[in-house]
Amino acid sequence: VLSVRDLHKRFGSVEVLQGIDLEIPRGQVVALIGPSGSGKTTVLRCLNGLEVPDSGTVQFDGGDTVDFAAKPPRPVVSGLREHSAMVFQHYNLFPHRTVLENVLEGPVRVQRRPRDEATADAMSLLGRVGLADKAGAYPNELSGGQQQRVGIVRALALKPRLLLFDEPTSALDPELVGDVLETIRELAAEGWTMLLVTHELRFARDVADSVVFMDGGVVVESGPPSEVLEAPRQERTRAFVQRLL
Ligand code: ATP
Repeated sequence: VLSVRDLHKRFGSVEVLQGIDLEIPRGQVVALIGPSGSGKTTVLRCLNGLEVPDSGTVQFDGGDTVDFAAKPPRPVVSGLREHSAMVFQHYNLFPHRTVLENVLEGPVRVQRRPRDEATADAMSLLGRVGLADKAGAYPNELSGGQQQRVGIVRALALKPRLLLFDEPTSALDPELVGDVLETIRELAAEGWTMLLVTHELRFARDVADSVVFMDGGVVVESGPPSEVLEAPRQERTRAFVQRLL
């Protein structure tokens, strides 16, 4: 569904992405792993239009290729935002809006879908993750795991072609991680296309079709979990995987 070629992004004097290539076939789950500061979050933010890369290309579903070196890249950026939706590490829910209002924000205000229809969809998605009875609650009345499942529903409500997850369980207490991973596992089984930044390597091994290991702004190694996580070819991958698996 998504092809990324030679993505570069610089913050001041530091080139955080130094030519990233990624291939995410439709219906597959790609896990993006690597040490802190390697640029994983920046990749997601570039794909979601939250950052504008300095150069590189992105193509969705064989459609128009977005070339970030071309000026101006603006029309492209809004295009990317239509295709993907992001689940954030710290949920990023609006604290003064109810669960339902948080979920409706994108479909109603941004996508301008009819409120009745969007509400019916939102309630059905909340039901799926066991949170229909929390529709009228405020985020601070929910556990971290429940808030993150609302974060996932909010992304699904946009009906994106690509779901981006940025370490969705790393802010959760250990006993709350399981429910959120289970929700992601179900989405994978349903055939959603996902790019998942995670430190949960065992989960990545179970759920991902392929694993991409980044370090220092480059892709060091990528392939099926059985290779990258269990029989890495590169020394840097081996050192990282050994520590965490
Ligand atoms: P982590 O696992 O800790 O989240 P990461 O692999 O996701 O790390 P990024 O968050 O992409 O890494 O950050 C890569 C580098 O870019 C870091 O050195 C970070 O300090 C730097 N960086 C990220 N965003 C900005 C910004 N807006 N301005 C300046 N530097 C930034």
